[in-house]
Amino acid sequence: AENGNGGGAVSFFAMPEIRYTRLFIDGGFVDAVSGKTFETIDPRTGDVIASIAEGDKEDVDLAVRAARKAFDHGKWSRMAGSERGKIMLKLADLVEQHAEELTRLECLDAGKLLTVTRTVDIGTCGSTLRYFAGAADKIHGETLKMSGQFQAHTLREPVGVAGLIIPWNFPAIMFFTKVAPALAAGCTMVVKPAEQTPLTALYFAHLTKQAGVPDGVVNVITGFGPTAGAAIASHMDVDMVSFTGSTEVGRLIMEASARSNLKPVSLELGGKSPLIIFDDADVDMAVDLAVNGNFFNKGEVCVAASRVYLQEGIYERFEKKLVDRMKSWVVGDPFDPHVNQGPQVDKAQYERVLSYIDHGKREGATVLTGGKPCGLKGYYIEPTVFTDVKDDMIIAKEEIFGPVMCLMKFRTVEEAIAKANDTRYGLAAGVVTKDMDVANRMTRSIRAGVVWLNCYLVMDGDCPLGGRKMSGFGKDAGMHALDKFLAVKAVVTPLYDSPW
Ligand code: NAD
Repeated sequence: AENGNGGGAVSFFAMPEIRYTRLFIDGGFVDAVSGKTFETIDPRTGDVIASIAEGDKEDVDLAVRAARKAFDHGKWSRMAGSERGKIMLKLADLVEQHAEELTRLECLDAGKLLTVTRTVDIGTCGSTLRYFAGAADKIHGETLKMSGQFQAHTLREPVGVAGLIIPWNFPAIMFFTKVAPALAAGCTMVVKPAEQTPLTALYFAHLTKQAGVPDGVVNVITGFGPTAGAAIASHMDVDMVSFTGSTEVGRLIMEASARSNLKPVSLELGGKSPLIIFDDADVDMAVDLAVNGNFFNKGEVCVAASRVYLQEGIYERFEKKLVDRMKSWVVGDPFDPHVNQGPQVDKAQYERVLSYIDHGKREGATVLTGGKPCGLKGYYIEPTVFTDVKDDMIIAKEEIFGPVMCLMKFRTVEEAIAKANDTRYGLAAGVVTKDMDVANRMTRSIRAGVVWLNCYLVMDGDCPLGGRKMSGFGKDAGMHALDKFLAVKAVVTPLYDSPW
């Protein structure tokens, strides 16, 4: 691995202009009430990109008030679903028209690969919006013949003001994963992007206005978790919270709900997902899945395959191919199209990952590749593979959220099932085998929100994502995502003299 910081063609390295740095409340950009700002940092260098308005409780209050007013007025919540859908389609077009600028903002703020961000991160925002735009006029209830002389019908109504708290690893994807179903349901919302990556969310706020989303429907408060985020979670006039981030903060969100208005919460939290590779697997495919599952987005992925279990018969062949494969892996400037892996998002994450690597070494695991920081500046870490990892080591148990892969062995299907489920988490899992009986047993026995069979990290707007156990509850993506923004109301009426 080498650090490619610096060289390359000018067109790739062109930096975006920073246009939006203030809070977006009631359809306009404003400074924080306190006048305070914070700095967002370029993870390639540690340099300041821009100063961003630092929202706090007072700003959240203003945003919630705007969202409540917009909701109660009904300009969005009572608009025909087809009309809401049309505005969302316009927003999808606008995101695509500004895709190049958005891509560069996202790469700069989060240290993501330019080529991947163009197709995956920014590239899928339009399809997420279009998926839920299509759902906006297909929200309907049931009619029920009750026992006795009564009948009922159910209404699925927008729940009200939604609080959407999003992480830094996929800032754009997470924005629309939450905003699109909330818009389709007819909710109004206060969005809090992560403090590490506020740039694309503010740009999207501007585009919602251009698309014709009425003022007050989408509000964006940039700022820190314990201040702005906590103010949303504990607000008496926020009707639900959808959160993605760490398990620790997920717990705080539930506590804040319990102590305030018992708002429903949906939590997409951390993981320590197993990838289980059987002897009959195609070794090249298995290596590809493990590399992608651990080093995609520099390992800053909630569903990362951070526990790789290999059946004894394939272990050595896999290890050899993996070492070969990592020889051509390039760590460096994410704007350079030849690079495979950019910097960690910020100094705190960089130090956290390096401390886990130290733990691994001290606990007696063997470093097969990597194991060190790299580059002269910025937050770059070599892709690191540990072998001889024991089940009770810290690196095998805790979420590292960086480019660190742990290899472990198993013998039987029973052992694989037991090991896969031996975790507090239950977000994702992968199984690689050609044997259908083994595949069926594994996919049905693993306690996780998604099991990828002979693939990994395959996601789509149509496919629900969300965990079990301490990975949280509630689904993002797919039609299940709409449910959390809707409240079901039963309307009961008497039924006189009717034969049916
Ligand atoms: P985090 O949970 O602290 O941050 C996620 C979001 O929650 C951010 O917007 C943050 O400002 C906000 N937040 C923080 N404290 C809050 C509070 N008290 N009340 C309300 N909102 C609050 O995540 P992090 O500290 O940036 O990352 C730490 C770890 O979290 C990572 O190493 C990783 O394990 C995990 N993580 C998971 C995901 C995921 O996709 N599941 C994403 C990011 C981070």
